[in-house]
Amino acid sequence: MNFLSTRGHTAKASFSDVLLAGLAPDGGLYLPESWPHIPADEIAAFKGARYQDVAFAVLSRFTAGSFSDAELREAIEAAYGDFDAPDIAPLVQTGDNQYLLELFHGPTLAFKDIALQILGQLFSRALAKRGGRATIVAATSGDTGSAAIAALGGLPNISVFVMHPKGRVSDVQRLQMTTSTHANVHNIALEGSFDDAQGIVKTLFADTDFASQISLTAVNSINFARIAAQCVYYFTATAALGKPATFVVPTGNFGDIFAGEAAFRMGLDVARLVIATNANDIMARALNEGVYESGISHATLSPSMDIQVASNFERALFEACDRDPDWTAAAMNDFARERRLGIPQEVLASLRTRYSAFACDDAKTRAAIAAVYKQTGRIIDPHTAVGVAAALKMGHLEELTASSPVVVLSTAHPAKFPDAVAQAIGALPPEPKRLAGLKNLPERLDVLANDPALIKRFISSRLAA
Ligand SMILES: *Cc1c(COP(=O)(O)O)cnc(C)c1O
Repeated sequence: MNFLSTRGHTAKASFSDVLLAGLAPDGGLYLPESWPHIPADEIAAFKGARYQDVAFAVLSRFTAGSFSDAELREAIEAAYGDFDAPDIAPLVQTGDNQYLLELFHGPTLAFKDIALQILGQLFSRALAKRGGRATIVAATSGDTGSAAIAALGGLPNISVFVMHPKGRVSDVQRLQMTTSTHANVHNIALEGSFDDAQGIVKTLFADTDFASQISLTAVNSINFARIAAQCVYYFTATAALGKPATFVVPTGNFGDIFAGEAAFRMGLDVARLVIATNANDIMARALNEGVYESGISHATLSPSMDIQVASNFERALFEACDRDPDWTAAAMNDFARERRLGIPQEVLASLRTRYSAFACDDAKTRAAIAAVYKQTGRIIDPHTAVGVAAALKMGHLEELTASSPVVVLSTAHPAKFPDAVAQAIGALPPEPKRLAGLKNLPERLDVLANDPALIKRFISSRLAA
């Protein structure tokens, strides 16, 4: 399988190239040259199959040529060996035709583990074959950082730098990152927002001398391997239901929901993909008003979605304009310059055939946590709650659920966000074993100013040490 860039000026790349590079050299995002197709009868047969076997069926279509079947199987088994739920991504019924798809049973209790655990496994295998070192620099709104550290901490020939916006992640999220004892892990608390951190990563990539000197790579959802790993649960959930579902996806960087589009393009019947955002509603405005425009980043109860630039939207735009790389490159350059992009009518119409979008504020987030608790006794986290609030806002929910089940992706364990939960239901969520004792461990982090040159010097000095 070969991959191309959404901006059209990159040589064809293999899965291993894409995995180790992250971002395409022309600044675009990698996508398969053509989408592999999974036949309907094969999808139906995923019902009742082991999650790992479905993951193999889906991922092998992308990894062919870079990893043998045996290597991929071994990587998948290792990746999902430390999950608390035997079926990895359990589908839980919460009402008539309403479900939560629980994606938080991995080592760091958020859905990022599902992709990063496998990415870590594939990464070290690809690097062992190719030789050399890799430097991973990740911007995190809270969950990618801990999941990357859990997946890559302690691996040979890999250094991991994680930048989180200082004071803008929950205490549990920070502790999960800063208490790592692995010498190859470096935490930066950036004096800025998540978008600033993501901007610095893009600046480092654009400095091609520096990037190649340190073998810079990205494990953010701009890395296609993450999208590939995340489409698996759209298949398992649909097969379990036996009919197409409406998926409601708490959205920040647009990676998780784009994985739903990827599954659709591979042949999965999907009723609708619903973008759920918090007050950082760039994606809701883009879909509903046709203008993709960054606003000011607001701190909310769902910090992992406090994002004003949704990097993966570039992939959806590329597909929606029938894969025109010149238009996509021009559009993304306009957006980089103006922080604003008017979406042409035909492109918008194409996006709207698949996607709907709803935004909700912190009050609605708290109300959704309280409502689900009252109705079902379950405690959900504030990101999942944004999804539930969006599902409630879908005016046609009753008609829709009469024909298609509504599946809200449950992206984090409530214990990662105890304060938000306490505000909503007046009690703290029970603490899972994985978090016990975290507060008593020593933390390692450097507070640095929002300055790409400074970050560059910091990375170089740590690598030289
Ligand atoms: C990362 C994250 C999201 C947003 O996912 P994207 O792929 O960035 O859209 C939602 N919820 C939680 C808990 C997350 O960690």
